[in-house]
Amino acid sequence: NAKFFVGGNWKCNGSVANVRKLVDELNSGSVPRGVDIICAPPFIYIDYVMQHLDKEKYQLAAQNCWISGNGAYTGEVSAEQLQDFGVPWVILGHSERRSLCGENNEVVAKKTAHALAAGLGVIACVGETLDQRNSGSMFQILNAQMQALVDEVKDWSKVVIAYEPVWAIGTGVVATPEQAQEVHAYLRKFCQSKLGTSIADKLRIIYGGSVNDANCKELSFQEDIDGFLVGGASLKGSSFVTICNAAG
Ligand code: 13P
Repeated sequence: NAKFFVGGNWKCNGSVANVRKLVDELNSGSVPRGVDIICAPPFIYIDYVMQHLDKEKYQLAAQNCWISGNGAYTGEVSAEQLQDFGVPWVILGHSERRSLCGENNEVVAKKTAHALAAGLGVIACVGETLDQRNSGSMFQILNAQMQALVDEVKDWSKVVIAYEPVWAIGTGVVATPEQAQEVHAYLRKFCQSKLGTSIADKLRIIYGGSVNDANCKELSFQEDIDGFLVGGASLKGSSFVTICNAAG
């Protein structure tokens, strides 16, 4: 079985004072060694977090990066710069970037391929909206999101897929273990048919959307759930540490 993977996506939250507090809480928490645990602070706090967060326990991620290398791209940060600075992971295609920043499947897939080529690991996010689920187009939407990645990605060894149903993000409405497992199994089958079983069976497919310290354990028992991508609950040290200990 693949190594359990827990990511904390801090989104655009934090201040100097409470990033310091969160880092202290995380450092004092007891987390398992055999789990990949990734914290994704806003760009501006990455330097501080890198200097102070316990590297034995936690790795760093950015929440986005540019689609190509360095150049005249005002306001952007490139994958090469993340690599240069020692940030090993990047979250790409988060639903907030898709819906608020206009990133479509092709952009997300191109960013993913570029970041991988620059040497980063990528947490690539997919997921349907409530309308899409209710109208029966969920699998079509997921197919298109995944196919774009399949078309661009050559090496899947440093890719983690985050299934984040949009209706579960920040709503407190977590997918049931059965709902999550259904989609995770579907995504793995999709990858088996496109990439072969050896890649697909090793691929970590993590769940995101209203994961907290109370619901993580039950989700982790599902066969195809290999970890979590956590938003709100990653801002509370004790909750995040509990989730990191939920490996199924
Ligand atoms: P919440 O855990 O706050 O629902 O956010 C999930 C998420 O978007 C993680 O990337």
